[in-house]
Amino acid sequence: MHITKIIGWLRHSIVLALIACALLVGWLLLKPGREDLPWTPLSLTDPIGMATRGKIVDLTGERDQCLALLESSGLEFTPRDPFGKDQCRVDDAVRASAGQTLLPLAPASVSPSCPMAIGLLLWQAQVVEPQAQAILGSKVTNIETFGSYSCRRMYARDDGPWSEHATADALDVSGFALADGRRISVLKDWNGNADKARFLRAVRDGACDLFATTLSPDYNAAHADHLHLDLANRGTMSWRACR
Ligand SMILES: [Zn+2]
Repeated sequence: MHITKIIGWLRHSIVLALIACALLVGWLLLKPGREDLPWTPLSLTDPIGMATRGKIVDLTGERDQCLALLESSGLEFTPRDPFGKDQCRVDDAVRASAGQTLLPLAPASVSPSCPMAIGLLLWQAQVVEPQAQAILGSKVTNIETFGSYSCRRMYARDDGPWSEHATADALDVSGFALADGRRISVLKDWNGNADKARFLRAVRDGACDLFATTLSPDYNAAHADHLHLDLANRGTMSWRACR
């Protein structure tokens, strides 16, 4: 073999080895867990990671898989019979039983889609409850809502895209009730630096890691009295609206 060929081959090998080393070091530094790897199944006991939001969105349309995951959470709930038609057809709505702490939605009749319930379970367990303890020193007994299902287009317009509410893949959260009797209202407590305002902003920020869309009073006047959370599928796991 000619000497220049050997040198060329060596150079090539060294470059490849360096690239492999860099990838290995990057992997070891980042130490991605299951929650960061989009090809692993969603587990409700994992921390919230880079891939969690995409996995929740991917449960849309996977009724059986989603219900099985919801069963595994220990949540007491009832799957609802399919209802609505066309753009407002819902096959995977669930109603959490009243009085259980895993997902204390109010009113108890609110029936989000199963993937929304999964996102809300994670939000309650890993965001809402820890933030309530840390900032307010109490337990959240109710997540108060304006509802989930509503057969309408966005902003109730006559044309344009359908709202995620039309398939129950959305929830409007208006406030929280605490075990010590306090209430936190998005409308009344959003502004300022009081503990209630800090709590509301913390749970909004945490929702952004779980829902494709999180809109708060910071977004516009239409959201002055609630946090809008939804699972709009924007094609890639990383694209989200967080305002
Ligand atoms: Zn909404």
